[in-house]
Amino acid sequence: MSSRQLLLVLLTLVSGSALAKEPLNNYSFFHNSRMTGHYFYTKVIGAANVNNIQDKLPVSELIFHTPGNSLQLAYTNQAGSQWQATIYRQQIRGQDHFSPANYLSFWVYKTSAATTSEDLPSVFLVGEDSLQVQNLSFDIKAQNVWTRVLLPIKLQDVSDPAKLIGVGFQQNNTNGKKHELYIDDIELVTNDTAPRTSLRPVISGAVGAMKHIDLRWPVIADPAIAFVKIYRATDSKTYKPVGIQFASINRYADFTGVTARKFSYRISFLNSRYEETALSKPVSASTRVMTDNELLTMVQEASFRYYWEGAEKLSGLAKENILGRHDMIASGASGFGIMALIVGTERKFITRDAAIKRFVQIVNFLENTETFHGAFAHFIDGPTGKAEPFFGSRDNGGDLVETSFLLQGLLTAKAYFSGAGAEEKMVRDKITAIWEKVEWNWYRQFPNSKFLYWHWSPDQGWTINHNLVGWNETMVTYLLAIASPTHPVPASMYYSGWANLDSTGRQYRAAWGGTQDGSGYANGNSYYGIKLDVGVSNGGPLFFTHYGYLGYDPHAITDKYTNYFTNNKNIASINYRYCQDNPGGYRGYGDSCWGLTASDGPFHYGANEPVLRQDPGIIAPTGAISSFPYLPEASMKALKNYYNNYGKFLWGEYGFRDAFSLTDNWCADIYMGLNQAPMTVMIENYRTGLLWKLFMSTPDIKNGLEKLAAETAKQR
Ligand code: CA
Repeated sequence: MSSRQLLLVLLTLVSGSALAKEPLNNYSFFHNSRMTGHYFYTKVIGAANVNNIQDKLPVSELIFHTPGNSLQLAYTNQAGSQWQATIYRQQIRGQDHFSPANYLSFWVYKTSAATTSEDLPSVFLVGEDSLQVQNLSFDIKAQNVWTRVLLPIKLQDVSDPAKLIGVGFQQNNTNGKKHELYIDDIELVTNDTAPRTSLRPVISGAVGAMKHIDLRWPVIADPAIAFVKIYRATDSKTYKPVGIQFASINRYADFTGVTARKFSYRISFLNSRYEETALSKPVSASTRVMTDNELLTMVQEASFRYYWEGAEKLSGLAKENILGRHDMIASGASGFGIMALIVGTERKFITRDAAIKRFVQIVNFLENTETFHGAFAHFIDGPTGKAEPFFGSRDNGGDLVETSFLLQGLLTAKAYFSGAGAEEKMVRDKITAIWEKVEWNWYRQFPNSKFLYWHWSPDQGWTINHNLVGWNETMVTYLLAIASPTHPVPASMYYSGWANLDSTGRQYRAAWGGTQDGSGYANGNSYYGIKLDVGVSNGGPLFFTHYGYLGYDPHAITDKYTNYFTNNKNIASINYRYCQDNPGGYRGYGDSCWGLTASDGPFHYGANEPVLRQDPGIIAPTGAISSFPYLPEASMKALKNYYNNYGKFLWGEYGFRDAFSLTDNWCADIYMGLNQAPMTVMIENYRTGLLWKLFMSTPDIKNGLEKLAAETAKQR
């Protein structure tokens, strides 16, 4: 198994854990398509007889049950040519706990009374082996009205709804007639009944930005509320439904696409049967012209909210992704998020008092969290503080890389909260204790080892056995291990491990990059006319230049091979030029749509980079936007393009959604903890250098870099 394969195994969700007791999700196949035109997760067979776009079902924005769209199923029942249309479930990372599934529920709308019960398609479920597991029939009486279809299902061998991958419709007769249906809100449900809330909906705020309005309402605790439905009026009178939001999120970003116009809003609550409350009182706001500086702040604040409003409740730390697990904390993303909270405090998105309260909560949680020779697990269960083996049973111990991302954030917070108050002092003291407890030298695996190792667990030991070799995101791990005042490793490990020149290091890099370029740590080749001193392949994914340099100022890191601000800038430039060159011929790529990095994808998380074999056409906004310190003009162009032109699908309550592919007409539903904060933080480092200044002021960090400089002098 190559290193890349190993890493991707670790990056890929393996299975849900029996430990977690998560809130249960409905098993949904469709509510809305993010993209207009057609819905990515559909497949039409017998396309001559079904209206389709590239064998996918069209999306209707005119007729829908929940706003803003539904699926159109327009078909002709021909003899000798059967059709099928299947809607597949989008696997949402971390949605792995589901309510019991007793019924298939969906909503149907027919446009003609001539579509009789014989003309309606039959329904089937698709099992994980892609075989049809049940055939059901349904009937609807009235035309031009939405009707709920509720079909009891017996899953038989399929005990877990997560083993159903799709719901299909297929031809039932051969009379040659044409029919038009619309289908919406396809899901598996437990009951035919649902309580109704007695709460009255209230909009508590509406704030206009360049092309969107930020709506918010009080946090919803009533389990009878499943969705919030949003209505918009442009004349203060005629309210049209424009969207729905899950009840777990108490805001909605309504992307109107126009600037300098007033909009009015009302909201209602829906229960799980889509029964609706009365509407709230109206609230109005206007979109407005924003300067480049205001746009930067807008992106910073929206991404910051992921960590402020979207945090795991007990710890105040970051979730792996939203809409994934509710109770699970991701350590590295939390470190990034801590720095986003500091930006939010400095830019007055929140008060300093509110920030201090959150940091007291964070450090009180972390001092009682399960650690492994001082290192935190990759994922932590909020309610128990124990390691959560989300990536599989072997990953149940300490994760040194995630720990280093977390500590980078904590040490920055220690520098930021320098006040004399008792709470600020307590935050500093507890961060010091957490930092000094990490046994970096334990993670060498054996005495005098050249390498640090990524994982260790009490019952699995060193089974994963992944040694840390650069070029990748783990320089910060070596630098912190060298800087530790209590459990340091020798500075020589920077060269023996991170920049290793043995066959171990060469094989690792060649396996990651699929090329000998950069296999000897130094690279030396030019790509698009840009000389790359250090890097696997032609630089790798952009997160290599982000994660470890949110606090560590790369201007200050020079080894015997290069300076890392220059090298990171060159990696970003190569990525930018690759996307302009666009050898894959993907839609959208160019000088305002660039930046290949790790992100969600249509089927799984992946580390994308500027080589054709690792470029499936997916752009993550964090790629270009977190590169602001390196290529500010190109990053600004990308930010404006993503917001102005793609905002309708890409901009949401926490800023830019994780990733999109114009080629596949796909956009992620989720935001990821690893990708939102780097945008806030790196924009700030570009604007003021705040996080770099804070982190680099830490005496232990200065001391570590001096040790590295002394080692480099010896190496020359
Ligand atoms: Ca809908």
